[in-house]
Amino acid sequence: AVVKEPPKIHRLDESVVNRIAAGEVIQRPVSAVKELVENSLDACSASINVVVKDGGLKLIQVSDDGHGIRYEDLPILCERHTTSKLSTFEDLQGIKSMGFRGEALASMTYVGHVTVTTITKGQLHGYRVSYRDGMMEHEPKPCAAVKGTQIMIENLFYNMTARRKTLQNSADDYPKIVDLLSRFAIHHINVSFSCRKHGAARSDVHSVVTSSRLDAIRSVYGVSVARDLMKIEASDNDPSSSVFEMTGFISNSNYVSKKITMVLFINDRLVECGALKRAIEIVYAATLPKASKPFVYMSTVLPLEHVDANVHPTKREVQIFLAVKYYNCSCLLANDIGLLIHLISCITSVV
Ligand code: ADP
Ligand code: MG
Repeated sequence: AVVKEPPKIHRLDESVVNRIAAGEVIQRPVSAVKELVENSLDACSASINVVVKDGGLKLIQVSDDGHGIRYEDLPILCERHTTSKLSTFEDLQGIKSMGFRGEALASMTYVGHVTVTTITKGQLHGYRVSYRDGMMEHEPKPCAAVKGTQIMIENLFYNMTARRKTLQNSADDYPKIVDLLSRFAIHHINVSFSCRKHGAARSDVHSVVTSSRLDAIRSVYGVSVARDLMKIEASDNDPSSSVFEMTGFISNSNYVSKKITMVLFINDRLVECGALKRAIEIVYAATLPKASKPFVYMSTVLPLEHVDANVHPTKREVQIFLAVKYYNCSCLLANDIGLLIHLISCITSVV
């Protein structure tokens, strides 16, 4: 055989590296919306409004009334690994904010056109500035602004032809975005959410601040869902280590639906937890075969030291096993069993 010369190894251009990384963090329009809404939640907003055009490919706009961004931070706002939420690696242990990596906004500037308008408390005017490839395109311009921050992403994936084509050919992300906002809206009941298509008069998600979870579910998912729900609560029996707490609303035997809805939050993070989902499905199929496509909203609180939030946010497999990876397995298993016993007793008590 002919011995080939080994191909020469070279360093990739930084711009190539950044675009590849960005495409991993922001896989599709709904991932951008999730990052932006989580930033708004981290900014202590009481109102978050989303506008979407062309399934998010033309425009995603998220406006909030949170604490805003300091003028002097604007130059580095969209650089990779710039964050106000994390300083040392040890901080990760107890991190409560949704974000901490400082990668989301940067990523968006590598695969779309980002414009930020923001005002902080006590200022007479706000600032507006656009970003590309991590950098400001110009000095921030003073502008009129109401409280908080508005972030606009235009022409997402304009520079990733294949990705854009695939997304254009498949069903657009708008239903996914509505679904995401619905989930946030029933968990964060102290925040009002809205989501609408650009140019539409009506919102497809519209929630108001309320103290009643059930009211929130009713306003987002409708009366027909809310009327067939029951409240569940579970916590550790052991008071000395009382750290596991679960509350939620789950559908009863009257609830009939063609599809399963599971809204799972763990320590206020929206998670996809395959293990938990399957466990719940099994409980329903076994105890309520006629109502085996349940609606489940469940919010679980676990000790922060069991949390490893530092899982890459974007890999699909990671997403599926997110909760398993987030929490140390022994703790998850024990909790699962408690949860299941509780679910079973709740469901059987109404059958
Ligand atoms: P991370 O959320 O991981 O810190 P991001 O790239 O999402 O990284 O955001 C970078 C920083 O920009 C945040 O740490 C925060 O300080 C600021 N920021 C982003 N969005 C908002 C917002 N809506 N309101 C106030 N500050 C924001
Ligand atoms: Mg973030």
